[in-house]
Amino acid sequence: MTREVKTTCPYCGVGCGLIASCGVAGDVVIKPDPAHPANFGRICSKGAALDETLDHKGRLLHPMVDGKRTNWDTALFRAAEGFTKTIAKHGPNAVAFYVSGQLLTEDYYVANKLMKGFIGSANIDTNSRLCMASSTAGHKRAFGSDSVPGNYQDLDEADLVIFAGSNAAWCHPVLYQRIMAAREKNPTRRMVIIDPRRTATCEGADLHLALKPGSDTTLFNGLLMHLAAKDQISSGFVADHTTGLDPALAVARLGPERVEDIATACGLATADVKKFFDWFAKTERTVTLYSQGINQSSAGTDKVNAILNCHLVTGRIGRPGMGPFSLTGQPNAMGGREVGGMANQLAAHMNIETASHRNLVQKFWTAPVIADTPGLKAVDMFQAVADGKIKAIWIVATNPVVSLPDAGRVAGALAACPLVVVSDCMAKTDTTAHADVLLPALTWGEKNGTVTNSERRISRQRAFLDPPGEAKADWWAFCEVAKRMGFVTGFRYQAPADIFREHAALSGHQNNGTRSFDISGLALLDDAGYDALAPIQWPVTNAQANGTARLFTTGKFFNPDGRAQFVAVPPHSPANAPSHERDRAYPLVLNTGRTRDHWHSMTRSGASPKLSAHMEEPTIAIHPNDATAYALKAGNFARLVSRWGEMTARIATEPGQIPGQVFVPIHWNNQFTNAGCVANLVNPVTDPVSGQPELKHTPVAIKPVSTSWQALALTRNRTRPAAADYWTCARGNGFWRHHLAGRQTPVDWDAHARMLLPDAHKDAEWISYRDAASGIYRYACFMDGRLEASLFVADVQVEEAFDWIGQLFAAESVTALERATLLSGQPPAGRKDIGAIVCACFSIGCKQIASAIALGGLTSLDEIGESLGAGTNCGSCKPELSRLLEKAATPATQAPRA
Ligand code: SF4
Repeated sequence: MTREVKTTCPYCGVGCGLIASCGVAGDVVIKPDPAHPANFGRICSKGAALDETLDHKGRLLHPMVDGKRTNWDTALFRAAEGFTKTIAKHGPNAVAFYVSGQLLTEDYYVANKLMKGFIGSANIDTNSRLCMASSTAGHKRAFGSDSVPGNYQDLDEADLVIFAGSNAAWCHPVLYQRIMAAREKNPTRRMVIIDPRRTATCEGADLHLALKPGSDTTLFNGLLMHLAAKDQISSGFVADHTTGLDPALAVARLGPERVEDIATACGLATADVKKFFDWFAKTERTVTLYSQGINQSSAGTDKVNAILNCHLVTGRIGRPGMGPFSLTGQPNAMGGREVGGMANQLAAHMNIETASHRNLVQKFWTAPVIADTPGLKAVDMFQAVADGKIKAIWIVATNPVVSLPDAGRVAGALAACPLVVVSDCMAKTDTTAHADVLLPALTWGEKNGTVTNSERRISRQRAFLDPPGEAKADWWAFCEVAKRMGFVTGFRYQAPADIFREHAALSGHQNNGTRSFDISGLALLDDAGYDALAPIQWPVTNAQANGTARLFTTGKFFNPDGRAQFVAVPPHSPANAPSHERDRAYPLVLNTGRTRDHWHSMTRSGASPKLSAHMEEPTIAIHPNDATAYALKAGNFARLVSRWGEMTARIATEPGQIPGQVFVPIHWNNQFTNAGCVANLVNPVTDPVSGQPELKHTPVAIKPVSTSWQALALTRNRTRPAAADYWTCARGNGFWRHHLAGRQTPVDWDAHARMLLPDAHKDAEWISYRDAASGIYRYACFMDGRLEASLFVADVQVEEAFDWIGQLFAAESVTALERATLLSGQPPAGRKDIGAIVCACFSIGCKQIASAIALGGLTSLDEIGESLGAGTNCGSCKPELSRLLEKAATPATQAPRA
């Protein structure tokens, strides 16, 4: 009989509810939960492909010490002894924990308790520092608490939705689809996108403000002045519930005041800025969604406050259909904030700098000490490791060697650190390579606890799979290390429910409405109640037992005077911005971000063939004019160089890029490519308030990289083709796809093919075809009649998907006719190459769609859906389908590759 388990998606901060249907044979089907208020039955391509990521391939199954398998007791003892000795010799600040927004709240709570209350340092920080620290800091400055005011229902009700620095169509797809669905019902509602790039989110926009990077504060300061000048201030709200408007306006007036000058400063058309200001001024129900484009900046906190100022001045907060809305990147970035899993916070939203909060937390925990100064934030933490100040670090559920800026320095720091403990579910990552102690962790499907999404909604992640090998929960590992460090009484939890009850009780302890985070109404849940906990928005108190849909509804904030604070924010350029005088060597700006179907460092999404098919390798997106200026050609390669490092990737010309900027996705790392890890060259400068790094603005130079050959290899087993100068790999269904390139044309291609694919070729039978004049070489090898590898070489990019070859890996033998297709490169009769995958749900490629549009005269998304099915499941590909329709309608326009 099928068992159904309700749980929550492990990817983004939308926090969609999912149902895992587990069959008796071990098969699992993942479906969206129609009853979960975050998604009401919707799902995106990443969530829909979760069932492809549940196997145990590549899992870390046993503890390891110094590269050798060991048992848990030995590994825990080594970690505990290492931390204890380091603290005894160098003090508590010589150790650190670096944790993750992928952790469950219960894991986070225990880690924070151990570091701040028992070790006595605040050196615990999280990869959430990279995605929403500026938002947290901005909230605290304005509201006196780190609180997202509204909820997703506001997105249904808003008449104007502004996306600032947010490519929600790709990064928060279910919310984007929800907004688009609401728009279909009410076509008068408007959408404005504020983003230097033309992203997929722009496909549905009424106005796209492609502003100069870093000019967000100038734009929102301009809006604040415009609202004041046009008498659009909500005088009653400002007088009764805020403070500091005049100084904020005075500082805004230090920048450009006239709309024309604001437009010039932001690199925008005056008419567009006027339109935006006018729409904002006249639309009461306005929601401003913002995300990494705002937060990931050396002035991110100021940008956040510039947005909050505009909502405060109009009183558009705490009411239906309006408010500023920070979209969190990770599934439990919010939960981490709630337990104080950041270096500058205490548990339950309390402040390290506030003595009464420190006393309260220490007494509640019966802790021997309490950290009394903020610890080191992520970038500074790894600098301290590099400087030898931190001598023992525990990294949990994150991959800083791929994700932190100046990643080469992070790798060097870990290599030199005397004790590196890493908890991960995967055996091989760029970070586990540096571990002295490796602890096997649970992954999604095995974990049990809670997460909080972008709208303050706490949901249960429930286990539906048994842990493989000796994998254990992270909260358990923290408790066991704590006990071996001598801290027994504070860490005797039997289950996540025990931890959650304590966390909930602490949130309400001596609170009395002084702190926004209060879930004391859940502190007495018994185990069955915890297990059955339905999604609920905090605060949850005895008085508000069903949770709280909106905050600040009465105009009461959490600053000492009960008012919201306008923050005076001067406009400033990004730190280390290129200028012709100072930075001739690095004339372009590098922007980084996510792709539609990959997640962070690809340890989960890279396991899915469907997700891997959307974008198989990293690209450097550049405006066609810049490509011409730098002698770059789409499909060829380029090297990006900054002061901190370099990378090589394929060039993609995109008219949607602003000239002078390039964009590279964040995901690729040494497990998936030999040269395309962008974090190596990213600017490590941080926001002075939030500590969030400037991941969107690195001065870079670009140079073409010449190659004499390029290739696509399909192999049964994953391989690292060291004989290629460039390689990437992506998982297919039962095989791997590798893009390769080399500088020198080999004299003997048959010998070189065997060097390129060493794992596939031992003792294999092989066939090949060479046309020296055209630069074409094709090769395939077989073992016991089964296809092991095929290689397609050309002197330019191999653009064919060769998707039909995937099926040959499943066959017991390959016929003579099929062998002929491997050498001719032509699909069997009746089949056509489908091109790069656009619709991941139904594996429909761009060539298929373009052909259907042309042959069927299709003109709408509905017609594409009826004809091919594309876009009819999760809808994540709809913006790309729109682009293909647009491209077909205007054939002269060069459109980005879908
Ligand atoms: Fe998961 Fe997609 Fe929902 Fe995000 S939008 S939580 S990735 S299903």
